[in-house]
Amino acid sequence: VATTELRADCANCFALCCVALPFERSADFAFDKPANIPCRHLRDFRCTIHDHLPDAGFRGCTTYDCFGAGQRVAQQVYVGRDWRAHPDLRTPMFATFTVMRQLHELLWYLHDALRWAPDDLHPRLRDAVERTEELATQADRLPDVADHRTRVAPLLRAASRVVRGDDAPDRSGADLAGADLRGTQHADTDFRNACLIAADLRGIDLTRVDLLGADLRDADLRGADLRETLFLTQPQLSSARGDAATRIPANLDRPAVW
Ligand code: SF4
Repeated sequence: VATTELRADCANCFALCCVALPFERSADFAFDKPANIPCRHLRDFRCTIHDHLPDAGFRGCTTYDCFGAGQRVAQQVYVGRDWRAHPDLRTPMFATFTVMRQLHELLWYLHDALRWAPDDLHPRLRDAVERTEELATQADRLPDVADHRTRVAPLLRAASRVVRGDDAPDRSGADLAGADLRGTQHADTDFRNACLIAADLRGIDLTRVDLLGADLRDADLRGADLRETLFLTQPQLSSARGDAATRIPANLDRPAVW
């Protein structure tokens, strides 16, 4: 798929995320919902509280993105047959969506790496895209995504390392919740899987910073430069705070609330 298809298109989906996924009562969701049960706010595949999700206690829904898995499952795999009219399709459709979402997220990372990785890595990245696409076409057969991800992970890591350099700072997995990170150079830093919840990143240059899996909820990105970050996703961006001065990569959208 093209990168433009790696973004949610809810109009062409049957609200699969609002049914297939579970959530727990927390700061992001107002109540518990088990997997494969429609959310009680869902009517005719539309969210009845869409206009005031954060005020209603569903901030988690505003930051979610299926990376285009929803419309692909709804329109390509199940060719427009929805789970209400075809209850027998519910279980396989929701399972397919869960697998497709993981594959599309991987495709996002691979396509992102193709934007900034040196040319000599492109053949391996393209091979990985091709293999991931192959698995996506078999998503309804529930292929082993974990195994595939294990194979692709070293390639994504190698791409990041070659761009950032061998001596780049490593803060992968660091617990930096609430930390004030201003006043230090962070370009080229590895923040993979770091906890940056509510961290203060105001005005910081995040060029070539690896953010794969970093938790950016409520991170303060006002005035920060994220144009050349590595592996940044829309859900990460949407979960953070920013303003008109925050500079974002060309392949992502500025969150409406910024
Ligand atoms: S609150 Fe709305 S967007 Fe969130 S799961 Fe329920 S129906 Fe979907």
